Amino acid sequence: MTTAPTQEEIAALVPKIRADTEKFAKLKGWTLNPNDPITESVLEGLARNKLMRGKRFCPCRLPSGDSEIDKHYICPCRDLDEDMEKDGHCHCYLYMK
Ligand code: SF4
Repeated sequence: MTTAPTQEEIAALVPKIRADTEKFAKLKGWTLNPNDPITESVLEGLARNKLMRGKRFCPCRLPSGDSEIDKHYICPCRDLDEDMEKDGHCHCYLYMK
């Protein structure tokens, strides 16, 4: 059984994930969501999944249990470019145009 990470473990990982996602957003000409409570919540979810499941799985989707399907939802996910084009933001509202 996987032990849930502590809030301290999650908080320690968030700055690294924030830096990585900011860098990726800049490369793409996007930004992170300026609503920081939303961004912080998504970043914490990514950190939690990294600590619990080994990868930064999307925190806004339930795992299917099928690793072939779930690997498409490691952030940045398979749907990102299409969602950005269509909606101007990703499914989790982390990346914004
Ligand atoms: S929707 Fe995709 S890009 Fe946005 S946080 Fe989830 S996995 Fe990352």
